[in-house]
Parts: sequence; C-alpha cells; structure tokens
Amino acid sequence: MDLLVQKIISRDPNQKEFLQAVKEVVQDVSEFYNNNPQYDKAGIFQRMVEPERVIIFRVPWEDDEGNVQVNRGFRVQFNSSLGPIKGGLRFHPSVNLSIIKFLGFEQIFKNALTGLLMGGGKGGADFDPKGKSDNEVMRFCQSFMLELSRHIGSDTDVPAGDIGVGAREIGFLFGQYKRVRNEFTGVLTGKKLNWGGSLIRPEATGYGATYFAQEMLNTRGQNLDGKICLVSGSGNVAQYTVEKINTLGGKVVCLSDSNGFIYDPAGIDSEKLAYVMELKNIRRGRIKEYAEKYNSAKYTEYDLGDDHNPLWNIKADCAFPSATQNEINAKDAQNMVNNGVVLVSEGANMPCTPEAIQVFLDNKVLHAPGKAANAGGVAVSGLEMAQNSMRMSWTRKEVDERLQIIMSDIHKQCLTYGSDGGFCNYFKGANIAGFKKVADSMLDQGLV
Ligand code: NDP
Repeated sequence: MDLLVQKIISRDPNQKEFLQAVKEVVQDVSEFYNNNPQYDKAGIFQRMVEPERVIIFRVPWEDDEGNVQVNRGFRVQFNSSLGPIKGGLRFHPSVNLSIIKFLGFEQIFKNALTGLLMGGGKGGADFDPKGKSDNEVMRFCQSFMLELSRHIGSDTDVPAGDIGVGAREIGFLFGQYKRVRNEFTGVLTGKKLNWGGSLIRPEATGYGATYFAQEMLNTRGQNLDGKICLVSGSGNVAQYTVEKINTLGGKVVCLSDSNGFIYDPAGIDSEKLAYVMELKNIRRGRIKEYAEKYNSAKYTEYDLGDDHNPLWNIKADCAFPSATQNEINAKDAQNMVNNGVVLVSEGANMPCTPEAIQVFLDNKVLHAPGKAANAGGVAVSGLEMAQNSMRMSWTRKEVDERLQIIMSDIHKQCLTYGSDGGFCNYFKGANIAGFKKVADSMLDQGLV
C-alpha cells in the first residue's frame, strides 16, 4: 500500500485534498487489504484511485451587464461498480480538480454504505453564486448543463446539489437538460416536490447526521436530550441539523458562514431557525444579521490570520461541522476536547484535518466521518431515483423511516469493522465496510 500511495502522490503531487482523502482510506483499510490478497492481485486499489472518467469543460456565460464570463466545469465519474454514478455538484470559487476528486473518491464509499445501488462521483464549477442575480445563475446553469448533458443520464450519472447548488440551481439545470435532451427523466436529484422531488430530500443530510449522532450516543446509554451542540455553516445541512437536534431535545448555540459566526447561548429555537432559513435561502444574506435581530446572540468576524476557529472553542457536548473541508484543525479539536465535546458527527465532507482526527481518536471521542454521518443526503437521493423510476411518491413518514433504517444500518456496519476493545473507530469501520462492498463488486466485474 505504501508503494501505491507513493505512486499516487508522484502522479498528482498538487492534489492535496484528494491525497488527504486517499491517505485516510489507505491508513484504515491497509491491514484488511493485505489480509485479502485477491484484491491486490486484481489491482483493486490502483483502479479505485483512478476515476473512470474526468470531464473538464469551459462554461461561458453573459452577466447582467453584457460582459462575457468564463468558468471551469468538472464532472469526475469515479466508480460505477455499484450502479450509475451519483454525487453532487458544487459551485464555489475554490472548486478545482483536487477538490472534486476528493469529494468523488469519498462518495464511492459513502454510496456503498447506504446499501443502495449507486456508484460514486462528483462535479461542479469555480462559479460563485453569491452576489449573482437569479438570471445570471440561470444563464450559468444553462451553459453548464449544455455541456454536462452529453455525459449524464438517469442510468449513467445522476448529479445532485452540494455547496452553492440548492433547489434553485437544480431547477435551472433540470430545465436545460430537459430542453436539450427532450426527455423528462430522473437525471438530477434534489428536485422540487411538484416536478419529481422526494419528500425529506432537503432535510435528509442534516436529519441523517443527527440520527447517526443519536446512534453513537446510544452506545454509551445517552441521547441528544439536553445536550449543548455546535453547528457550523448555515446552509442546507446546518439548517436541518439544527431542526432535528431541536426535535430531539438538544440545544444548538452557534451557526456560521464564510465571514464569521454567531453564538447564541439562549439556543437557536424553531422561530430563530425559521429566520435563518428566510435569511439564507430567500434573501441570501449573511449570518451577521442574526445577531442584529436577536440580542441574545453575539457575532464574531473570522480573522483569517487566526490559527484556530473560535467557534470550536465554545463549551459544548456535541459538534456537527456542516460547512466545508478542513474546518477543524488539531488546535480546534484540542479546544473541543478541553471544553467537554464527546461527539463529532460530520455533516460536511472531510471537515477535520488528519491531525484533528487523531486528537479525537486519542481522546476516545465518538467521531463519525462524513462518508457515514452525512450519507443520509445521498441515500434519500437514491430513494428519489427509485420513486422517479416507479413514477410514484412516498409519504414523508415512509421516506423518513427508510432514512432512519439506512442510518442505523450504516452505524451497524461501522461497529462491525471499527470496534476494538469497547471503542469504535468509526473512520476505520466506515472505510473498511465501504471499501469491501466496492472491491468485491469490482472483482466480480473483471478488469474494467
Ligand atoms: P450550502 O451551500 O447550503 O451551505 C454551505 C455553508 O457552509 C454556508 O453557510 C457557507 O457559507 C459555508 N461555507 C462554504 N464554504 C466555506 C468556507 N470555505 N469557509 C467557511 N464557510 C464556508 O451547502 P451544504 O449545506 O449543502 O453543504 C455543506 C457541507 O455538507 C459541504 O461540505 C457538503 O459537501 C456537505 N454535504 C452536503 C450534502 C447535501 O445534501 N447538501 C450531502 C452530503 C454532504 P457562505 O454562505 O459564506 O459561503
């Protein structure tokens, strides 16, 4: 495995996020891999780290002033051994090939853990929807989809949302796909309810991360009732994490965006959450405004020169990072442990640096990786695909029950492969369980 990792590094030395994701999996699966020589004989890992297909394309569009703008679009179709490629689209100025490859690589194992038949991939563009008019976002989405439509399809590759891609963007992308291909199919998930979406899809990632937290706490005879919780971000995942924590009796005391965070010791109750949803999803404002509206809250602007994020230095029991990758470093992790955090459920993808993961492991924190804890989003996307194929819709209760069963099953898989001496290493458990499913399918399907 070490030699293999050296080869991957020498091939793409600058893809630091991708290499971080690969090294994490290697560290956890190498013993299992070495104990099962059939994998190495078939070159499974060598093939797994190389995407089946990478598409990079120009996205030209016109802004409201009539100026030509050009962005770069990506779709990485990583692994289809378990089904059609499935994974979100991210629109954010930081998007590059390394970030899309790390997200696509993680997605392979996450999708495998759900037990649904979905391969893994990811896509996006270095386009920033912030500050753009609806018309500009529509023109961008149409241009992006004009090219992407050649490469996707309901049985080939079914994208969804991620950072910067919500219901508005999915609508524009779907409309353009339908026009170009002249077909109304389930080619995207995260659709609005009235034209093929699934109930609970908007809620699924946040609800799922909270259900997973509840499962982890259960192993210690505890639950979320009365727990003080930290949630970062204020987008889709963060909002529904707050909603479910509130329902289960916990108290969320902070939210953030890329400029800063609010700390509200009184708790973000359902009325305040409704305000956040209106602020972020409709007015597209900044989290700072929360502290202007509620005087129980204090806003802190991020200082980019800081070596830690002060949001993670608030006294709490549980943490739900729900913004972006590497938002918790070793110093943050140590602060969290010192302040009493006993559980970290990753709503975001790869929010912890490798050093932070080690701090949590050393301190026996219940810590679930995104590929397990945030799999609820793609799971309900899978359920949306199933409903689209059957041309029918399940009730809210039905979808929520299926989501809870899936999250509980992922938790069991983590325990199976990650437990040792009464403690579960959820990273190891999720990585081995996901890897095994994908590797065994690749073995069955021959050298492709
Ligand atoms: P949204 O775009 O809805 O919200 C993202 C939030 O994170 C915003 O508050 C945003 O602030 C903040 N954020 C984004 N980038 C940064 C950054 N570089 N630094 C600080 N804050 C940042 O995205 P989602 O809620 O959908 O996604 C959040 C995380 O969850 C991502 O890691 C995503 O990959 C992961 N995820 C999402 C799923 C889904 O179903 N949506 C499924 C599984 C994982 P600002 O407004 O200032 O940009």
